[in-house]
Amino acid sequence: MSRDWTPEEIQAASEAMVQAGNMSYEEVCAELNALEKIGRFAPLQSKYNWPCPRCGHWTMDRSTTRNALSRRAVIYICSSCGMEEAMEDFYGTWAPLASWDIARKEEWPIGNDTEN
Ligand SMILES: [Zn+2]
Repeated sequence: MSRDWTPEEIQAASEAMVQAGNMSYEEVCAELNALEKIGRFAPLQSKYNWPCPRCGHWTMDRSTTRNALSRRAVIYICSSCGMEEAMEDFYGTWAPLASWDIARKEEWPIGNDTEN
């Protein structure tokens, strides 16, 4: 069973989350939205030629599995982004999924054979 939270309760909970060193309610929602969008895109990744979902550049190898498997979600990203994620892990800092190109854009471009 769940109940509806009032905006004031959500705001208070969000502030408590931030004070405890966690993401705010809005940031959690943005991450969940990004993760959902990434999850919807992942099955299409091997069917066409796409830009990197993380950086948005046309830097993906045509063979999907030759790219880097993201450390943040079950999806392939370009080698450069794979290296960036490895460095983020080394330094203990993560770029939020909401900052990924696929999460920021309403429309995700349809791949074709001429752009890579
Ligand atoms: Zn990339």
